[in-house]
Amino acid sequence: MSRAQCPRCTRPTERCLCALIPNLPSRTRVLILQHPSEVKHALNTARLAALGLSNAELLIGEVFESLSTVLQQPGYRACLLFPGDQAQPLRQLAEPLAELPLLLVVPDGTWRKARKLLHLNPLLTSLPRVVLPEGLQSRYRLRKAPMPGALSTIEAIVSALNTVEAPACFDALLKPFEVLIEGQIEAMGEQTYQRNHGKSDASS
Ligand SMILES: [Zn+2]
Repeated sequence: MSRAQCPRCTRPTERCLCALIPNLPSRTRVLILQHPSEVKHALNTARLAALGLSNAELLIGEVFESLSTVLQQPGYRACLLFPGDQAQPLRQLAEPLAELPLLLVVPDGTWRKARKLLHLNPLLTSLPRVVLPEGLQSRYRLRKAPMPGALSTIEAIVSALNTVEAPACFDALLKPFEVLIEGQIEAMGEQTYQRNHGKSDASS
């Protein structure tokens, strides 16, 4: 664990991903809320997303004291990317283009952790909820998805921005993530990967 780490992308220096991380501007502001237990996760895609977007911020914590200030950022309409009974398709909320741009709040981590963040920060539950179009498939098959089609945080953000800001395309944000996944597959060995993930993938 004492190997040198890149301070920016937090990868071991010999596998630094910084050269692949873009600097994409967006009209939408992205606010990622990360539970501290996700920080050490091998992929930490939230961090890659925050680094690759010029109008994004990553906050790490359990209770976010400054949340009301952050959410009332002038010039934006805050909404929460999280399912719920009242959730509406993201496209619908983004539609009146004359309206203020969105401040898209994205809880990072497992569903359980994300729910906990909502519970600890009740202000979040007062925000309008938005969801991504159905049927999106993750390319991320290393971590057991809690539900079919669940996306990693960086994939969810790319999908959200592509939806809100079309025809602008944010796929370039995924580049370091894809290389990271390839590296992980290589590291665990193709055979192990197929044994552990190939089967469940085909059946889902
Ligand atoms: Zn780096």
